[in-house]
Amino acid sequence: MTSDKVDEVIEKARAEGRKKLLEHEAYDVLRVYDLPVPKAGLAKEANDAVRLAEEIGYPVVLKIVSPDIVHKSDVGGVKVGLKTAEEVKEGFNSILGSVKEKAPDARVVGVLVQEMVPEGLEVIVGSTRDPTFGPVLMFGLGGIFVEVLKDVSFRIAPVTKYDAETMLTEIKAAKILDGYRGTPPRDKKALVDIIVKLSKFMEDHELVTDVDLNPIMSFEEGKGAKIADARVLIKI
Ligand code: ADP
Ligand code: MG
Repeated sequence: MTSDKVDEVIEKARAEGRKKLLEHEAYDVLRVYDLPVPKAGLAKEANDAVRLAEEIGYPVVLKIVSPDIVHKSDVGGVKVGLKTAEEVKEGFNSILGSVKEKAPDARVVGVLVQEMVPEGLEVIVGSTRDPTFGPVLMFGLGGIFVEVLKDVSFRIAPVTKYDAETMLTEIKAAKILDGYRGTPPRDKKALVDIIVKLSKFMEDHELVTDVDLNPIMSFEEGKGAKIADARVLIKI
């Protein structure tokens, strides 16, 4: 896909009156910028889900795909670590059942079958387009670090490699990235690379208002990082 393809995906969503790219669309546009997205495919039926899981390789993750659902786990829309065809079939039906009960009005496009990303340190990279300053990039550690402690750092785009390196050092919990109590230091280069590429993506595509990569699994030094969830919002 080229950068034109990114615009095509965005225009299709706008034509359908959607302010949010579906998760697989989000991966398609981020992949154009060489961001580390997981393997994934959209299933409409349980049998499709099993076929995709076999292509991707077990274990897999299943997720509800709906333009109306922002927090998928809140409505029972995420199942991780499914290891067999049987578990995938069950997971598929259980997700649809739970979403029907907890978000009865949500339109359901299908279920995303996704590569299970190995455990890592969960970090977040995000961007919001400020009306005055343009794209602002954010970095933080996942979970309570962001949600409770608001321990994040910011930069206005364009974010250079040097800026991104500094962002990693500016959070209060920066030491965790260097390893603690026997946990290894993280691959900071891979995180810097994600921030710089997301900055470029935001600069190139003015219709994108927000991107939230939450979580990104950050692996030990030399082993990279991988995005496990992506939300891309657009202007309509
Ligand atoms: P949401 O943020 O909409 O509730 P996520 O896609 O972030 O849903 O999934 C919820 C949690 O499940 C993530 O924070 C992560 O811990 C885990 N998770 C999601 N996708 C994967 C994946 N592909 N591999 C491993 N863990 C995952
Ligand atoms: Mg998430």
